[in-house]
Amino acid sequence: GVRTPSLVAREVMAHTDHHLLVGEGAQRFARQMGFTIVPDLNTEHSRREWLKWKQKTDPEHYLDFDDERAYGTIHCNGVTAKGDVAGVTTTSGLAWKIPGRVGDSPILGAGNFVDNAVGAGGSTGRGEANLFSLASFLIVEEMRRGAHPKDAALTALKRIVANTVEKRLLNGRGKPNFQVKFYVVSKTGQHAGVALYGGSDATYAVCAASGPRTPAMDYLIEGTASGG
Ligand code: ASP
Repeated sequence: GVRTPSLVAREVMAHTDHHLLVGEGAQRFARQMGFTIVPDLNTEHSRREWLKWKQKTDPEHYLDFDDERAYGTIHCNGVTAKGDVAGVTTTSGLAWKIPGRVGDSPILGAGNFVDNAVGAGGSTGRGEANLFSLASFLIVEEMRRGAHPKDAALTALKRIVANTVEKRLLNGRGKPNFQVKFYVVSKTGQHAGVALYGGSDATYAVCAASGPRTPAMDYLIEGTASGG
């Protein structure tokens, strides 16, 4: 019910001893902190997307529903000139999920991890894969061992591939049939955007002293998630 959930997360960090508040309790906390609770977070676009989905799917067949799912996550890292590191992942979560599903975005070590001594990593894409491999934590640990952000992310992506064994998650080439992307920055300002699969949507935004740009991401696997 809150339009800026990452700001509520910051209040949890600033005003409580806890790491996670969820569900109704989280909403009550947000209200107490002065956030406006709205009854419907849909935009006109998301409402139309929902309507399309509703027309196509039978709610009893969650696993069989393989139509393209809508995602809407943003991960953002920052490093100051002094080397202080920050990161945030904000999301509505996977669209049309089973109510109650918790994705990777709010879970430290999965969708987002920051260590001010090392750097930050975060993710968009299939949250379940990140939850299974705690990929953002792995990325920061790899950087702690001296890896460049790109190599740290590639290591995490390889772990995800190794952990993806269920047939329903594999394409015809035996590779994951989903996309995951990582956004990584080190304490010294090195950065990388690395995806499981490349392609026209695999870009990331960087803003450094030289100005903003949107380079193509590096990627682990040739071809597409669907196996093409
Ligand atoms: N990672 C998000 C989730 O699983 C989805 C996304 O990146 O859009 O909820």
